[in-house]
Amino acid sequence: MSTLKLHNHVSFEALPARLARASASSHARALALSTWLLKRKRDGRFLAAVDTRGQMQRLAPMRASEVLALEKFAKQIQAAGRSTGHTLPLAGLEQRLRMLGLSSEDYAHRTGLHLIAEPATLDFAGWDRYQRPLWLTRDTARAWHQMGVAARRDDVHLEAVSGYRGHDYQLRIFERKLGRGQPVEDILRVNAAPGYSEHHSGRALDISSLGEPAAEESFERTDAFQWLSTHAPTFGFRLSYPRNNPHGIVYEPWHWYYIG
Ligand SMILES: [Zn+2]
Repeated sequence: MSTLKLHNHVSFEALPARLARASASSHARALALSTWLLKRKRDGRFLAAVDTRGQMQRLAPMRASEVLALEKFAKQIQAAGRSTGHTLPLAGLEQRLRMLGLSSEDYAHRTGLHLIAEPATLDFAGWDRYQRPLWLTRDTARAWHQMGVAARRDDVHLEAVSGYRGHDYQLRIFERKLGRGQPVEDILRVNAAPGYSEHHSGRALDISSLGEPAAEESFERTDAFQWLSTHAPTFGFRLSYPRNNPHGIVYEPWHWYYIG
């Protein structure tokens, strides 16, 4: 199992440059010499590359305060070797939810869901269906790997559609839809409120199988789903949103959560 890590910060992400090199990039020269790529979470922009000695090379314009925060983060990454199991603070998220006009307490009360903090580190768990890196907590990555091996032994192919997704991912969906004039209540009928998706935890996976569409109820009629229903609990996974779940979330046979 690989030990490639994503280091997480409330405003930034550090991605192993090795993974970024695999995909097309306009920063080829900086990447060839660097170990980490630092990305701004709010807009997904690559801000800097960090080399093996911890030297930072800028790739995009930044505010002075951002440079300072990024330099501090780069030092932390150099110092931190392995997964910590820590999570990041939620204060910034709560502030942004208020700015979007989303009452966090009302939503939590209505759905029985709670705010989920992002992990400080995530492990590379292979590539998802769309050839994007799949990030999961260390324990989830290990369990997902073991479950995949066991399924293959039974001639069942499990494919990851999506794993960890940060708060910013969900916030961007909301900001885009609000920008188009959609009321918050309408958006909440289709999308979980930012901060409340199990995907933020790095312990949730959307699973599909070869040739099957992603995130469709028809997944429940596949061999993969039958296999998961029987064996997933052995590996610590449970179905989060069965039919008529108390959260009022639609039935999601594809969405599994690692409880350990
Ligand atoms: Zn999901």
